[in-house]
Amino acid sequence: MSRSPGRQGRLLAEPLLCEQSVPGRRGLDLPALDVDPVDVGKAWPAVCVRAQPPVLPEVSEVEVARHYTRLSTWNHSIDLAAYPLGSCTMKYNPRLNEWAARLDGFAGLHPYAPEALAQGALGLMHALGQGLLAVTGLDSVTLQPAAGAHGELTGIMMVRKALAERGSPRSLVVVPDSAHGTNPATAALNGFRVVTVASCPDGTADVEALRKVIDDSVAAVMITNPNTLGVFEPRIKEVADLVHGKGGFVYMDGANLNALMGKTLPAAMGVDVMHINLHKTMSTPHGGGGPGGGALCVAEALAPYLPRPLVVERNGRYALDYDRPLSIGRVRSFYGNFGVLVRAYAYLREMGAPGLTRAAELAVLNANYVRARLKERYELPYATPTLHEVVFSDKRQKDSKGVTNIDVAKRLIDHGFHPPTVSFPLIVHGALMIEPCETEPPASVEALCDAFLQIADEVERDPDKVKSAPHTTMIGRLDDVRAARQPVLTYRDLAATK
Ligand SMILES: *Cc1c(COP(=O)(O)O)cnc(C)c1O
Repeated sequence: MSRSPGRQGRLLAEPLLCEQSVPGRRGLDLPALDVDPVDVGKAWPAVCVRAQPPVLPEVSEVEVARHYTRLSTWNHSIDLAAYPLGSCTMKYNPRLNEWAARLDGFAGLHPYAPEALAQGALGLMHALGQGLLAVTGLDSVTLQPAAGAHGELTGIMMVRKALAERGSPRSLVVVPDSAHGTNPATAALNGFRVVTVASCPDGTADVEALRKVIDDSVAAVMITNPNTLGVFEPRIKEVADLVHGKGGFVYMDGANLNALMGKTLPAAMGVDVMHINLHKTMSTPHGGGGPGGGALCVAEALAPYLPRPLVVERNGRYALDYDRPLSIGRVRSFYGNFGVLVRAYAYLREMGAPGLTRAAELAVLNANYVRARLKERYELPYATPTLHEVVFSDKRQKDSKGVTNIDVAKRLIDHGFHPPTVSFPLIVHGALMIEPCETEPPASVEALCDAFLQIADEVERDPDKVKSAPHTTMIGRLDDVRAARQPVLTYRDLAATK
């Protein structure tokens, strides 16, 4: 049995920076003033001048460097060990893409630089767009949306406008219950009536049930494929034909594209519009709430409504096309999160078509390996083969010892891994959703499985230990509810709680 990466550890205690403060201590020395000092109280109106100095720590450079380095050791990261957070695709991202995004010519380019001086950046965006269209089989693309949910919002706004232009405004959006939660939220935010349809016992969309609710008022069906159970929707084309027959559009949530790329084309499934989470599938690190990319690809019928400007090529030069009268307008300042676009472009060029296909195959292989190794010990609510992720439940542990999915997830931290996604998808009670990703080497997938199996043993032997985990972290089990309702966000609040 392989050893979990978290069994031995070193926890570096660390006081708050404010607690390390010594009056007068500083991290850098400025040269002596060579101009007359200004009396701030006289130079500025009274309302602009602080009555009290700000509460800022006074520390030296080495204290700052150590403080943040020590704190970083309390956290999990993809550079430390596997991060099997289902649905989130926490894959390892090549350092090379980071280098590319930080090249001076990209990172330092002003967003208002004239087109003639930004040909490289515009050319990159154009080429990335073409690459995404090749992966999806669709016709037109915008790189503006800043994340997956933002891509959904943009796509459904376009659907709404397209139907209004056609003289056929609609009120209904239909969503299978295995869709991501952002799908019904997007539809509701766009003012649509959302009807959720229960899936079949095998975890796939129930086409007969969909047929019953899809009528002439349907604007769109929003379908996550593979869905949030990790199951491919084999009848998606049938659903698309049904919706198209009623004059509506098919929105595919493409966040799980890492299971499909190179293997099949969403356009061939009858999809009219889909977003791609560049930060999941195409190599921007995420998880700390940093910038993302929700590129949106559409079929010809929706192209006129794309946000403006679009990057176009004219006689070998790249330009921003604002002359798009039917556009829904801008959805983000400038052209999207440009650094994310550079990483995605670098990723596509490194991988090439064969590399993308191989990545999809490895993502599916790793997930199915986890499934095969854990299925004797953890309940599999759906027996249907899955693609890039696998959803277990805590049923056995809960029935026998009252141990929940949260307990198992917390105990995994002691074994050196990030917890899996818990309690999602909502259609699985006590869900444990594992997505190992294609970038985990075999030994790492093995160690992850070993940790889950050891926890299953522990549940039998010493359930209290699992229920009170984690035990090897700087901070133990938190009161999640209290942390969310009464967050302590400032040094003053913290001092008050002590
Ligand atoms: C992550 C995810 C989203 C939302 O994407 P964000 O970039 O987090 O806004 C939507 N659908 C699915 C299936 C996802 O996994």
